[in-house]
Amino acid sequence: MQRHFIRWCVAAWFSAAGAIASCQTTAELRNADVVMHFDAGAGGPRLVALQPSGQAAWKNRAAEALIDSADSNGAHLPLQWKFDEKASRIEARRIVFVYGSESPRLRLTWEWTSRADYGPVEHRIRIENLDSHELWLPLQDSWRFDWQVDAQAELEQLYVEKGDGSPSAEGTHEVSLANGYKWTGTSSTYAHPGQGEPREIIPWCLLESADNSRSGWYVGIEFSGRTSISLARDGESVHGTAGLNPSPGPFRTRLEPGATFETPTVFVGAFSGGADAAGNVLRRWEREVLTNRLTWQKPNYPVLVNNSWGSGMGIDEALAHRMIRDSAELGLEMFHIDAGWFRGVGDWYPNPEKFPHGLAAIADDAHQRGLKFGLWVDWTQAAFDTEPGALNARDPQVENWLVADLPPGWKPEPFKGQTIDIGYPPAKDWAQHEVNRLVDDYHLDMLEHDGYVVAQGCSRTNHPHAPPDPENTKIYQDWGASWVESSNMTDVSYHSVRAYYDIYSNLRKNHPDLLLEVCNDGGRMVDFGSAAHADYFSITDTYDPLSNRRAFYDTSYVLPPAMLESYVEKWPTPRIENFRYMLRSGMMGWTTIMLDTTAWSAEQHAAAKQEFQLYKNELRGFIRTADLYHISERPDGVHWDGTEYSDPQRKRGVVYVFRGSTEKEPRHTFLLRGLRSDGRYQLRFHDHSSADRVVAGRELLETGLTVYLPVSNSSELVFLDELQGR
Ligand SMILES: [Zn+2]
Repeated sequence: MQRHFIRWCVAAWFSAAGAIASCQTTAELRNADVVMHFDAGAGGPRLVALQPSGQAAWKNRAAEALIDSADSNGAHLPLQWKFDEKASRIEARRIVFVYGSESPRLRLTWEWTSRADYGPVEHRIRIENLDSHELWLPLQDSWRFDWQVDAQAELEQLYVEKGDGSPSAEGTHEVSLANGYKWTGTSSTYAHPGQGEPREIIPWCLLESADNSRSGWYVGIEFSGRTSISLARDGESVHGTAGLNPSPGPFRTRLEPGATFETPTVFVGAFSGGADAAGNVLRRWEREVLTNRLTWQKPNYPVLVNNSWGSGMGIDEALAHRMIRDSAELGLEMFHIDAGWFRGVGDWYPNPEKFPHGLAAIADDAHQRGLKFGLWVDWTQAAFDTEPGALNARDPQVENWLVADLPPGWKPEPFKGQTIDIGYPPAKDWAQHEVNRLVDDYHLDMLEHDGYVVAQGCSRTNHPHAPPDPENTKIYQDWGASWVESSNMTDVSYHSVRAYYDIYSNLRKNHPDLLLEVCNDGGRMVDFGSAAHADYFSITDTYDPLSNRRAFYDTSYVLPPAMLESYVEKWPTPRIENFRYMLRSGMMGWTTIMLDTTAWSAEQHAAAKQEFQLYKNELRGFIRTADLYHISERPDGVHWDGTEYSDPQRKRGVVYVFRGSTEKEPRHTFLLRGLRSDGRYQLRFHDHSSADRVVAGRELLETGLTVYLPVSNSSELVFLDELQGR
């Protein structure tokens, strides 16, 4: 997409409206992709219209639903919000409408910000307690909308699931919005699908017109706590909300005098040309605005990793040194020790029997061989170790940090214990100190967190969050951890997630070069809040080629591929074609090898070395910044699937092609995207499955690229270079 002309425009005017005269302020925010109109009405602030560039506007009938009451000392106080024109601000990139309540004294700030001259616009609401006593607030949604649509208009919704423990058979959902349609998608850091709970979504959804324009809007939530997005259609109305999850309710949150409650920030973007066009702008915005700029400046990001979990908990000093040698020989760039290195859960010091010379010596060996060093830690888990520095659940001070008392006979699992609530300030202080210590003591270049970093519910009554409902609280145990179901769950996650972000912001400030991997039993924490506070995600906890490609297919709609980590585990590879298929299924984004490379045959070793070289020399450049197109149906392991990267700046592209287990279909044709129809392209088949040739752009776009692969479960990489001249 070309963006040669970008204009910012702001307008404000005031008018007296007859007998019920009140000031009216309207404003406009414009960037390359969207125009938004706002109105500070007496009934509350409103996003009046959202217009994808050059397309018809979506007209919003609803003012923002501001909370209408607060509780103080058991009294239920209705709120009357009045627009505060003086405190409000209309700037080129930011619209701030302020509303005030006189009794109790509250200030509400309703804000929209475009942090770039393209892409989505961020929206948040802050409520400050200006009174002298504690108040309790009900749930304030981040955003409410009610679009006026033609009753006949055909609309489609797209949303994607988290890769979770394992990607489901569907994963990417494209749904037609029939009259009466009702949908709610939820996200948290915990999900137990299969235990009666629905699959969680990456907190984002897109709505588009099913006409040629394929234009529409999308919303995403920059928060890792319990959030939800709802959407419904009733005739001429498409309405819904985005923000904290109101269920289980009733939600309430404490607001001390002088304190501020802030809704999770949402981003709202507009697009035309379908979901991949929306994604190409969103992913660029995430790279350039939302995520850590320093990370993208590292030339070898995303880093090629060798991880020790191929040997499970069996990692020790001898194996570590052997893996480091082989990683360097193979051209890998980071050695990553997974679980199994520590004295015990909560006791994050190297096991002296396994690592008699400590972990820093391992890190130093990695560094001397030109590798980075990464470490897995489940740093919010307490257990029973009593060594100095261990987080001991029986310590009277620590007991109150746990989300619930330990049941009689409780024992930790090998790498999970009881979760502490880092939303409780003393627990947060300990965790902040501990993660800094881990990075300093063990010379880390990367810290991976796993397990339950963010508490799911908490039974404590003396933490900052709302207390649990004594009549209706359930405590569950699984995998050595507890979780608590009560009406306070969303508020617990609100405080705990803010603490998590603070801890990682502080860690980053102290260690600007550190990389942070987000893992929560695999892909349970893939959201836009953790994207803003860490560098890459484990996108699923199942690592075979199909699961890796499925999780990548879903997640790459909404996040930069460089941030999407696939672990590549051992898989049957009788032929070298199957071996490359296994590797490449995990090489479309961030690649972590998780198998014993020393067990590879000489042929496999040589093939892997070539693949890693190719990744560094050619593929990584596309993964970092190229546009991405979903050019096939979602992978099913049987049929063919493919992903296209296209870089209009470099006039280059690459198509990852996978043939599934099908015996019937030795060739397949993919319609390509993002190319110039009047251009000519040099095609290069990396494995020489076909002769290299020059093809017209129009042919690739309209007839397609045909690939022939004689072997089931094999792959090809087809590079495209646009030729000069016609
Ligand atoms: Zn708590």
